[in-house]
Amino acid sequence: MRFVFSIAAVLAVSACQAKAPKDIEVIKAPAGMSEVAFAKTTLNRLQGVSFSSNREYCGYLLRTPDGSLAATAAAKGRISSCRAHSPPEGHLIVASYHTHGAFEYDTPAEFPSVSDLEADEAEGIDGYISTPGGRFWYVDGTELVVSQICGVGCMIQDSNFEVGLDGRIEVSYSLEELRGL
Ligand SMILES: [Zn+2]
Repeated sequence: MRFVFSIAAVLAVSACQAKAPKDIEVIKAPAGMSEVAFAKTTLNRLQGVSFSSNREYCGYLLRTPDGSLAATAAAKGRISSCRAHSPPEGHLIVASYHTHGAFEYDTPAEFPSVSDLEADEAEGIDGYISTPGGRFWYVDGTELVVSQICGVGCMIQDSNFEVGLDGRIEVSYSLEELRGL
């Protein structure tokens, strides 16, 4: 699950009023890399720490003022929620990204949550999600559909992961279908 940026921004203002603004770190994509490939690389780097700490990690993919692709540094979230850092001024948010923490028997984490889709819809962006089983999901925040870009084990996988516990997982779901899971 991911909190909506606007809520995060309001909370951040009230919590940090006394602090001077700090430099905001942005990670630039290698030249020529596609948005999907950059999302996958970014999430793959976070899988290990997300499993070992059992926390979500999240951020935004951005267009820098010169039009190149970049990402905000990942924020460490909680077991099933995460609040991304705000991007620097002049940067356009194009998508969110987040991991789903470690494998747990009683937590369905192999597909996006209804809140994941609603958060991207509210911000008018798309999203990318990696799961403990190593699935890679694309969230279309306009069409309100989530789709697996690639399936089990196509990204770094939690060594404790057991396949099949979340039941049969389809290649894509509409918002309505997600609500029924
Ligand atoms: Zn999620």
